[in-house]
Amino acid sequence: MSISLPEHFEDFSAAQQKGFLAIKELKEQGKQVCGSFCQYTPAEIIMAAGLYQVGLCGRSHLPIKTAETQLPANLCPLIKASYGHALEQSCPYAYFSDVVVGETTCDGKKKMYELLSELKPMQIIHLPNLPDYERSLEMWTEELRAFTRGLEQKFNITITDDMLNEAIEWCNKERVQTARIYELGKYDPPAITGWNMSNIMEGEQYLFDREEKYQKLQNILDQCEADWHAGKGPFEPDPCRPRIIVSGSGLAAVGHKTIKTLEELGGCIVCYEGCSGISSRRRLIDEDRSRDPMVRIAEKYIEVPCAVVSPNTRRMQQIEDTIDEWKADGYLALTLHSCNPFAIETENVRRVCEKKGIPMIHVSTDFTPGDEGQIRTRLQAFVEMIRAKKEAKAHE
Ligand code: SF4
Ligand code: SF4
Repeated sequence: MSISLPEHFEDFSAAQQKGFLAIKELKEQGKQVCGSFCQYTPAEIIMAAGLYQVGLCGRSHLPIKTAETQLPANLCPLIKASYGHALEQSCPYAYFSDVVVGETTCDGKKKMYELLSELKPMQIIHLPNLPDYERSLEMWTEELRAFTRGLEQKFNITITDDMLNEAIEWCNKERVQTARIYELGKYDPPAITGWNMSNIMEGEQYLFDREEKYQKLQNILDQCEADWHAGKGPFEPDPCRPRIIVSGSGLAAVGHKTIKTLEELGGCIVCYEGCSGISSRRRLIDEDRSRDPMVRIAEKYIEVPCAVVSPNTRRMQQIEDTIDEWKADGYLALTLHSCNPFAIETENVRRVCEKKGIPMIHVSTDFTPGDEGQIRTRLQAFVEMIRAKKEAKAHE
């Protein structure tokens, strides 16, 4: 497989490293930074408050040893890495955050936030566990109002409805554009590799100038489409190449040994399902300014299809739809060690895949390189099995 790296991709692959300097410069200009961990974080409120939002999820195994001096070893690596970075002050984004937002998602994160609040000023938002329960939306809306008041008090600002409306409309515009990245996976062969999709999604959160980020993304999308139409896409035409959907949380840290490996073995990742995947990008916030903006923001975020809420039927429906729309031949469910919500929910995902008649492979891993060989062997068997099935069908 020929994987080219068009020039505009460099902007995103280098964004995380350059982001260290960018955030330092923002602080030197007197700007305020809000660290966050989760897709439930209401970006519109943070933007309306004039804060720069940055993701703090740990992606490296290096700070885990430090974290384990206080946290149990058999805890999800993402939680340990995030806390370890804050503890040893090895992450500039955590270091420069004026406030950190946490939501009551999984138990591990909730309890880690108690310790983190000793290191950083925090605001915790109480997320309802049952998204479809009749009083959940009301409660969640009130939580977001309290969060807004908390930011107003901390930064001595006033957040008006007009500010929220502007932020809603801008974030919607960004979502529509980001969803186009996944649309590139619908092409046959795909007009972008899954590895590059992941790198863009990862890098975009470290580009703090929103106008500039929007333009850079536009350049990539245009370039991918033009290259594909000129016969210069990243994949050679091959009707039997397995088209795979990936799901899971904390993918950035394990992408090399899973996503990249799967594509080296002859498969292609066509779409990402999950909180940072296609579903969250497609679900926009209602822009009807005659309605309370806080309610409209709450309506969107209560629908994040995360395994921490129960029952998570919305996610199962979205998986079904994504399999159909992206014409997927297989499903890779990635979970992190000790992540009970996603590990348990994998059984529901398996049932959806069974219903749709496609195979699913479940890979449970952590941030260390020790299982690379074993994962490669399993992915190879998975890709070969799907390819054989497609070849047999093509010869019928
Ligand atoms: S998987 Fe769930 S808890 Fe983790 S970032 Fe996504 S929405 Fe938040
Ligand atoms: S991967 Fe699972 S255990 Fe880890 S933070 Fe996310 S939901 Fe919690």
